[in-house]
Amino acid sequence: MKNSTKRIDKLVTQLPIPRPWNRTTFVDNVATLRGRPITLISTADLELPVTPDSACGIWLMRDSEDVIIYEAATSEYHIDQIVCHELGHMLLDHDRAAGTAENARAPDPLLRSAFPDLDPATVRAVLGRSDYGDRLEREAETFATLVMVAATADHPSQGLRNVLFRQQ
Ligand SMILES: [Zn+2]
Repeated sequence: MKNSTKRIDKLVTQLPIPRPWNRTTFVDNVATLRGRPITLISTADLELPVTPDSACGIWLMRDSEDVIIYEAATSEYHIDQIVCHELGHMLLDHDRAAGTAENARAPDPLLRSAFPDLDPATVRAVLGRSDYGDRLEREAETFATLVMVAATADHPSQGLRNVLFRQQ
């Protein structure tokens, strides 16, 4: 395994991953761990047609909470992947790596649609696929895959991880 994969693997083994798997519970657990609420919003609930990159949702960083916007028109399993991918960006501190100060965008129609009452002053940053670069995207994908492996394995085995990441 590459160094970054090892680091992510170690992080995942320390996380409170619910078994049997439950996406909402896992998001709540991560929110508790970070001490910041995390809100999930489906694109189906937005008034504007918004299509985040299929592998990457959108992380909306507000003063008092983090919001994950995910593509709804896909399978439950893929939604799990997208949400875990975004949690990976959060837990791996990718906001710092992406340089949120420069990337902080003004709230656009998407945000107004997501939060009709949104005060633009409470939005610190909006992070989507184009803000991270390939390396951070791969890390977030690795994180999501390892969480799903750990969530579905009765006895998470190093053997399975080795098979999955033999090529890296
Ligand atoms: Zn991403």
